[in-house]
Amino acid sequence: MIIAIDGPAGAGKSTVGKRTARKLGFLYIDTGAMYRALTLKAIEQGISVNDEPAIIRMAENTVIDLINKEDGSLAVMLDSRDVSKEIRQPRITQLVSDIAKIKEVRRIMVCLQRKLGKQKNSVLDGRDIGTVVFPDADRKFYVDADFKERVRRRFEELKETGQAITFEEVEADLHNRDTIDSTRAVAPLKRADDAIYLDTTKMSIDEVIEAILTRIKNG
Ligand code: C5P
Repeated sequence: MIIAIDGPAGAGKSTVGKRTARKLGFLYIDTGAMYRALTLKAIEQGISVNDEPAIIRMAENTVIDLINKEDGSLAVMLDSRDVSKEIRQPRITQLVSDIAKIKEVRRIMVCLQRKLGKQKNSVLDGRDIGTVVFPDADRKFYVDADFKERVRRRFEELKETGQAITFEEVEADLHNRDTIDSTRAVAPLKRADDAIYLDTTKMSIDEVIEAILTRIKNG
């Protein structure tokens, strides 16, 4: 069974996706983490995000894996190195959407996402899961929230992990990514026609998970 969870940044997809997968005993696949891992590698290798041929060559020669750990966390492996923490840094977040808009990069990532998702029952979260990666997913959700609420959530999340970032910086980042992610030519963020829309602005994480689980059970 494939569960697709799409939506904009800061809507709570990854927390919801991870916990929903755990409750169901499914694999959790954070597709944003894959684009983030590629972005980290590009920065480390000094490759500009505008140098598309070099980024594509790098993506072709990169091994990314996601490991669901016993404690419920997810290890993001970049060429056998655990980069789970590094990929959350603002320097990655700032550039990731520019890498994710490259057509050939998406082709490589989508291929990997399909391979991972087919191994086992899975919950995938991203931007194009229900539209492109698994258009035949068993259940599709589009998790959304008002812009200000998404900024607030992301700001709190970053504060908790000890990152020095202001509310205004988070606001600018989300605005920038919303724009690039929803206007890019390839696989833009959009709600699949058959996706269940959840406006989570006034919902707690537990309520969102409950709403998703109920819809999975009831078909
Ligand atoms: O989900 P997260 O915010 O970590 O994703 C980081 C970025 O990766 C997004 O802003 C988007 O540019 C890209 N992404 C994507 N397609 C996906 C998942 C993420 O383009 N399926």
